[in-house]
Amino acid sequence: MSSTEQRVAIVTGAARGIGAATAVRLAAEGRKVAVLDLDEAACKETVEQITAAGGTAAAFGCDVSDSEQATAAVERVAAELGAPTVLVNNAGVLRDNLLFKMSDADWDTVMNVHLRGAFLMTRACQSHMVDAKWGRVVNLSSSSALGNRGQVNYAAAKAGMQGFTKTLAKELGKFGITANSVAPGFIVTDMTASTAERVGMGFEDFQAAAATQIPVQRVGRPADVANAIAFFTGDDAGFVSGQVMYVAGGPLN
Ligand code: NAP
Repeated sequence: MSSTEQRVAIVTGAARGIGAATAVRLAAEGRKVAVLDLDEAACKETVEQITAAGGTAAAFGCDVSDSEQATAAVERVAAELGAPTVLVNNAGVLRDNLLFKMSDADWDTVMNVHLRGAFLMTRACQSHMVDAKWGRVVNLSSSSALGNRGQVNYAAAKAGMQGFTKTLAKELGKFGITANSVAPGFIVTDMTASTAERVGMGFEDFQAAAATQIPVQRVGRPADVANAIAFFTGDDAGFVSGQVMYVAGGPLN
């Protein structure tokens, strides 16, 4: 690849929240960005924000937990934008409940979107990265990986993302591919808004209460996470692999 050729990045779950901020940031770094989410039409806003700023992006509809859809989406990206050599596995869902009330479906949905989705997307992209002898994978973990009441499914999936990441780093390093994990704390998105609703608090009050527990005394923004992802996906981060970076406004116990 010549130094002037733009690398192609796939960001999953990029219609909104952390994924949208990451897509915008990677485009600003000079990547061509595949804005991928369940509903292709929902990606329009992110794509327009990127193109309005002079970047290149296209929308792709895909359920990352579906093997055929994941494979087909990666091939569409390769055909329309070029070989994807940056992958951000960001798509996520919550199905919170205490263990005794958690359904089989709550467990399976969370495992399927986070873990199976990251597996399917990474497997589909790896040959493009191996061919290019260069690649960057970033997997979204969470501070919940350390354990969080009401989230046995999500905590297990997010801890699993860390093991998945470290194993990718060991298997793929010899092909010039790095894999790292970013583990956000409290970030203001629809996901945390839905948690506030579930616990019966106004979102502003919920954020204010969370901020008092965070050393930097504020909650995070999607751009805070996008900044960390931009570092790991950068050309200069080639000797940093298998790491987990907490983006949480302070250390976690
Ligand atoms: P969000 O606002 O809820 O956005 C998640 C996006 O993922 C949505 O656009 C959603 O689409 C999409 N998605 C869900 N299932 C999908 C599937 N099967 N295939 C493709 N796309 C799918 O969430 P967020 O807060 O930005 O979180 C992004 C990531 O960061 C997640 O992995 C989350 O677990 C992690 N995280 C977030 C926080 C936080 O405080 N917000 C903290 C730690 C970790 P629909 O809208 O159609 O459902």
